[in-house]
Amino acid sequence: MTAPSAVPLPYRVVSHRDETDDTATIVLEPAGAPLPPFAPGQFAMVYAFGVGDVPLSVCGIDGNRLTHTVRAVGAISSALRALRPGDCVGVRGPFGTGWGLPEAAGDDLLVVAGGIGLAPLRPLVLAALATPERYGRLNVLVGAREPGDLLYPAELTGWQADARVLTTVDRADERWQGDVGVVTTLLDRASFDPHSATAFVCGPEPMIRATADDLVQRGVQPDRIRVSLERTMHCGTGHCGHCQLGPLLLCRDGPVVTWTRARSLLLVREL
Ligand SMILES: Cc1cc2nc3c(=O)[nH]c(=O)nc-3n(C[C@H](O)[C@H](O)[C@H](O)COP(=O)(O)OP(=O)(O)OC[C@H]3O[C@@H](n4cnc5c(N)ncnc54)[C@H](O)[C@@H]3O)c2cc1C
Repeated sequence: MTAPSAVPLPYRVVSHRDETDDTATIVLEPAGAPLPPFAPGQFAMVYAFGVGDVPLSVCGIDGNRLTHTVRAVGAISSALRALRPGDCVGVRGPFGTGWGLPEAAGDDLLVVAGGIGLAPLRPLVLAALATPERYGRLNVLVGAREPGDLLYPAELTGWQADARVLTTVDRADERWQGDVGVVTTLLDRASFDPHSATAFVCGPEPMIRATADDLVQRGVQPDRIRVSLERTMHCGTGHCGHCQLGPLLLCRDGPVVTWTRARSLLLVREL
């Protein structure tokens, strides 16, 4: 793997698309030298000039172009969400472990996403769809708070041609015709052999725990459940220690780890 760039390189915004009330997808292209290639599951530190930088997963990789979906929760993510074509940002990376999709060759695939957690899983789904001969059945299970919070609705519909795509929301009015309930309620309708399946899970931590526990009960091996964990990250290179979780520095040893590693660490309460 090529070493990540430790200094931010200039990238220009080439497109902006609003996804939901608080979330937008931006496409960046290098304004000079590009960063080394990103793998699905890895993240960049994206710097809004004069505001600060935050970790953002890649949700699309197209040559040297990087796509990020960003939800505005604070000053930096709001500044990034407000970017428009022509604006410039600084980008460091690629950082962290990827999903390791090639290691799941031959397996049925379970992609389980909660909310913005679909963003880091999107490039994995696209890679699996592009090489269907390498994998078994592809299941994409997506949960969101409300119908308006579902990311990439048109793409979800398109993926249905080649994958089992199921969506559910926590709450909805009568205009919503789909499922209501937590994302684990979709597992009964997924098509997979638990003894030869690999799961990729990203979302809020309670959702990750519930999904992984449910999958283990169904017979999926904990080593074949990969979860993406979120902690405050600053350096991206395992030096500052902000993202420590037990023995792991998640910017370096994560964000994707197996459930075998993650389970006991998530039982420890953070101070
Ligand atoms: C590896 C990794 C990948 C990530 N990928 C993405 C991504 O692809 N897209 C994306 O939108 N975000 C992603 N995040 C989360 C993102 O980095 C944070 O939302 C961001 O750091 C918040 O910074 P801020 O300065 O805008 O807000 P802060 O000032 O840090 O926070 C403002 C408020 O929001 C709360 N908050 C902070 N983070 C979150 C959160 N994630 N969800 C809900 N509330 C939060 C804080 O507790 C605080 O109350 C990722 C995080 C990690 C660690």
